[in-house]
Amino acid sequence: DDFLALAIDEPKVDDLVYEDDTYAGKANAAILSLVRNEDLKTLLPAIQQMEDKFNKRFNYPYILLNERNFTERFKESVRSLLPPERIVKFGKIDDEDWNMPDSIDNNKYHSAVEKLKEEKVSYVDMESYHNMCRFYSREFYHHPLLKDVKYTWRLEPGISFYCDIKYDIFQFMEMHDKVYGYVLNLYDGPESIRTLWNTTMQFVEKNPQYLNVNGAYEWLKENGQKPRNFEITNGYSTCHFWTNFEITNLEFLRSEAYEKYMDFLENSGGFYYERWGDAPVRSIALALFIDKSRIHWFRDIGYNHAPYTNCPKCDPQNNRCDGKCKPGLFSIWDNLNTENCHATWIKYVMSEEEKHIY
Ligand code: GDP
Ligand code: MN
Repeated sequence: DDFLALAIDEPKVDDLVYEDDTYAGKANAAILSLVRNEDLKTLLPAIQQMEDKFNKRFNYPYILLNERNFTERFKESVRSLLPPERIVKFGKIDDEDWNMPDSIDNNKYHSAVEKLKEEKVSYVDMESYHNMCRFYSREFYHHPLLKDVKYTWRLEPGISFYCDIKYDIFQFMEMHDKVYGYVLNLYDGPESIRTLWNTTMQFVEKNPQYLNVNGAYEWLKENGQKPRNFEITNGYSTCHFWTNFEITNLEFLRSEAYEKYMDFLENSGGFYYERWGDAPVRSIALALFIDKSRIHWFRDIGYNHAPYTNCPKCDPQNNRCDGKCKPGLFSIWDNLNTENCHATWIKYVMSEEEKHIY
């Protein structure tokens, strides 16, 4: 906790790229949002904040995806919010990449949903939500608009950014060889992922070559925090990165290990017979297949997606964060941080060096 008291406004490294530097805005990267036409009203303020706090300095393009065609009104509203030089691409997702695949048995799907509804698994009766989780797990990085893109920063409607970000986040990812950047790290509802861990272990038994010796295994295992209904998930802590904010090196998602794992998960049917989120799926893959030092907590990014917040302890001289950012606040109602898995990450995964430079 000593180190949490430390004000770190920016990573303490000497190669941060700022607004006027040669490499500012030059990473192969895009801001990505999967949205519906109906999300326009909550998307616009999210884009506005992305611009104000970060992207007005770096001019990265936006890629917006939808399984329907975006309306002219939608496209016009987004474009008119942004300066003319900002590139915005609007993409349609092919039906076969979005819809429930034919391999899923409809009757089995519906009876599984009924059962999980009784257990109050969130969104379980929305087929579109299952599609969304599957799409973010295993499809988005194949979309033609992302074909040549290396990094994406996922942006969701309704979020808030509280602090100015003055360095180029994507260049930081590139120069420090990071695969993944996150801000929030939570426990999941175990009923939504009953068989995910066992399925994963079957995959690992068949493909042990993909395991990274420096993986973040401690974070996946029972870890002393006593997550609720722990036995339901057969040993998976349910700790996961909250993917509504994620900065990802897509080369990892396109790697043999990740793709084979995704095919294995797909074949087990859990995106539909259960309600596997893209967050636990992505997080398990990261923790098993890559070196933990390549996963970065952006402690300096003030962020809120209801109901959770990441708010850094800023140097008061710096005045970088606005009044809505309450240092250390995770949520208003969860005082004991029972939903927060970050302590586990800090305790078991972060190195001492990392704690002092990031
Ligand atoms: P939550 O954060 O888990 O409550 O889920 P959201 O409703 O925020 O959905 C996650 C992301 O996927 C958001 O960017 C949504 O706009 C998007 N999304 C969810 N469902 C759909 C859908 O059916 N179609 C499209 N195009 N986007 C969706
Ligand atoms: Mn959301």
